[in-house]
Amino acid sequence: MVKVSGEALMGPDAFGLHPPTVTRIAADLADARALGVELAVVVGGGNIFRGVQGAAKGLDRATADQLGMLATVMNALALEAAIEAAGTPARTMSAVAMPTVCEPYSRQKALSHLAKGRVVLLAGGTGNPFFTTDTGGALRAAELGCGALLKATNVDGVYSSDPKADPAAVRYERLTHSEAIDRQLGVMDAAAFALARESRMPIIVFSIQEPGAVTAVLRGEGRATLVTA
Ligand code: UDP
Repeated sequence: MVKVSGEALMGPDAFGLHPPTVTRIAADLADARALGVELAVVVGGGNIFRGVQGAAKGLDRATADQLGMLATVMNALALEAAIEAAGTPARTMSAVAMPTVCEPYSRQKALSHLAKGRVVLLAGGTGNPFFTTDTGGALRAAELGCGALLKATNVDGVYSSDPKADPAAVRYERLTHSEAIDRQLGVMDAAAFALARESRMPIIVFSIQEPGAVTAVLRGEGRATLVTA
């Protein structure tokens, strides 16, 4: 299971989808699939809408989160189209049913797509407000029996604080889920870490900035932080 944030799809822009970046990440995912692994992708929406920010502007939080979930569907559809254009079959499944746009999520159907070699893009997070797509990623990774959750970020692993803001930030090579929760490391929310801990799901945090990053992680190459039980 690869988690791709909305921000990763924004490229150098301040908002929305940056088509060359979407194409590059789609090619990365298609190459990863070509290694022979079954590949599911949870897609975020922060490049378009975040519930917390909507709520800060006066929108009801649950409604704002619904807008956020719809944003993830837009991103998933764009990524699906780009993966298919790269020659790899892909299917978007949404936790928020919108059957004229994409399939509603079902575990059995997702497993069937994966077995047929299709990249499965999971949109809508958990389908519930007050959650994030990181938590959606940990949830779906557990229920689909994934071997690991690959969390794509803009930095090459987990740091003790934001390395872009704090020059003294220390990078971790390995961590446990409990350490990540106890140290309040912001790379993923505590609910996502707790779910991963419960299912003993390894999390690999890596940078998606360079082409070939997903394939490198799957081959055990490249820089990343490994979070295990
Ligand atoms: N969201 C939600 N429930 C979920 C997943 C996502 O309500 O299970 C909403 C929430 O408003 C969130 C937005 O969708 O801010 C976009 O998801 P997220 O912030 O996780 O995207 P990312 O940061 O990965 O781009």
